[in-house]
Amino acid sequence: MNEFEIIKNYFAPLSIKEAGAFSLSDDAALLQIPEGSQLVVTKDAIIKGIHFIGNETPATIAAKLLRVNLSDLAAMGAKPYAYFLALMLPAEIDDAWLKDFAGGLASEQEIFNITLMGGDTTHTTGPLTMALTAIGFVAQGHALRRSGANIGDNIYVTGTIGDAALGLQVAGSGFRAENEVDEYLVNRYRFPLPRLEIGRQLHGIATSCMDISDGLMQDMGHIAECSGIGALIHWERVPLSEAAREKLLIVPGQQETILAGGDDYELLFTAPPQAHEALQELACKTSVNITNIGSVKEGRGIKIIDKNGNDIYLSRNGYNHFTGPE
Ligand code: ADP
Ligand code: MG
Repeated sequence: MNEFEIIKNYFAPLSIKEAGAFSLSDDAALLQIPEGSQLVVTKDAIIKGIHFIGNETPATIAAKLLRVNLSDLAAMGAKPYAYFLALMLPAEIDDAWLKDFAGGLASEQEIFNITLMGGDTTHTTGPLTMALTAIGFVAQGHALRRSGANIGDNIYVTGTIGDAALGLQVAGSGFRAENEVDEYLVNRYRFPLPRLEIGRQLHGIATSCMDISDGLMQDMGHIAECSGIGALIHWERVPLSEAAREKLLIVPGQQETILAGGDDYELLFTAPPQAHEALQELACKTSVNITNIGSVKEGRGIKIIDKNGNDIYLSRNGYNHFTGPE
């Protein structure tokens, strides 16, 4: 199949006519920006052997590629609208692969109410490579930023932390589907849950926000740097799933995997203490836990302590002490 047949057969059906992409029949898409809104745009690229193992089904790869981008939109407080897809396909990619990949995208579009609006399709002599651009809208001035954390704010995370990093360990070491704990963790790695509803509701509540893609500690460092503050995190408050807790009983010493491992795609944000009740209501409404894991401090760097107040030292991810009045 040539490029034009691939687009016509697999990708044009994913383009909702009314959205403005002319069923991918023209050179580019035309976007109507709702009045009073700003466009929010993000892009992530993935390469076989680097970002995915290669033993995943094409539909699974499609879901992850899309969801990691939607997670960025969630972190900005945006509502997803559409996406653009670039595919660099090596010779081994056949019709069956494309069919499963496009099928995966179709299911994801249903879940997240978005449409494909364009892209590019080329051959490559290198490994399978894909890039996805997601676009969304946010009311003018309502976007969440990394830069507004204030001293005295609480630090919150959505959901549970560390599942995906534990799941990656399982997926990389011959995953046994009959084990429920492993299955849960691998699914958390393969199918991130972009916290779109919570992100959209955080305007006026959160002072800073980002999504956790590179590990809790490192990403907290990004908020700290952008906001010019330090942070104190309590290890025993970091929310773990039941599966993660069970895994820790079998394979202890995974504290660092949980704190420094990536792929959580949960939201990490700060909010003043008086917002606590509103956040618990939001957690109830969305059925997603929102947990206070620490507080914003003067100074620089991230400090994490155990339940006795002793410092926890991590060897990964550039762990820093903050120098402050504490
Ligand atoms: P050009 O070569 O002029 O850039 P293409 O033939 O690559 O145009 O693309 C034709 C149309 O198909 C464009 O609207 C483009 O956005 C769309 N398109 C190409 N590849 C993809 C893809 N993988 N997914 C979605 N749309 C695509
Ligand atoms: Mg053209």
